[in-house]
Amino acid sequence: MNKTVDIHTLPLVTNAISSAKTAVIEACKKSQPRVSPREIPLDDLSVDWWGVNTVWWGVDISPVKAVIEDAASQFACEWNVNARREVVDYICEQVTEYFADYIEYKSNEEFINSTAACPNVDCDSNDFEVGSMKVESDTAWQPVKCNICNANWNETFTLKLTSYEVQ
Ligand SMILES: [Zn+2]
Repeated sequence: MNKTVDIHTLPLVTNAISSAKTAVIEACKKSQPRVSPREIPLDDLSVDWWGVNTVWWGVDISPVKAVIEDAASQFACEWNVNARREVVDYICEQVTEYFADYIEYKSNEEFINSTAACPNVDCDSNDFEVGSMKVESDTAWQPVKCNICNANWNETFTLKLTSYEVQ
């Protein structure tokens, strides 16, 4: 019997891809020093997938492997011995591609404490284009664009009365 299944569109596989993306983000958040999801080469690792160390450059990728292997193991069957392998490769390829242009942003707290450098974790530029500030009662906003990495964001300020002068 010759059975063909398009693994690319199976919910089991598409769900595993999105779970793996989340797992990569979570794993990177815990890494010390911080590693960007962009730097996790799942695509390369899949070549030696079952021999891959679960800690990759200080990032514990075992939860990522668990998600991918769980999905792939359901394709381990007699009529297609390569199916499991194909599923692992496909998921790794999709996740790696997704993170290729991924920008990780600082949290609010990290941004406020980072001496006004770019919110892109990997950028740290201070070369910005700042738009005009809009004020409404005690709140002000200004749009900012980084000239190095092109990140765009809005900064919000709370205005505080500091002094007065009689005219
Ligand atoms: Zn930047």
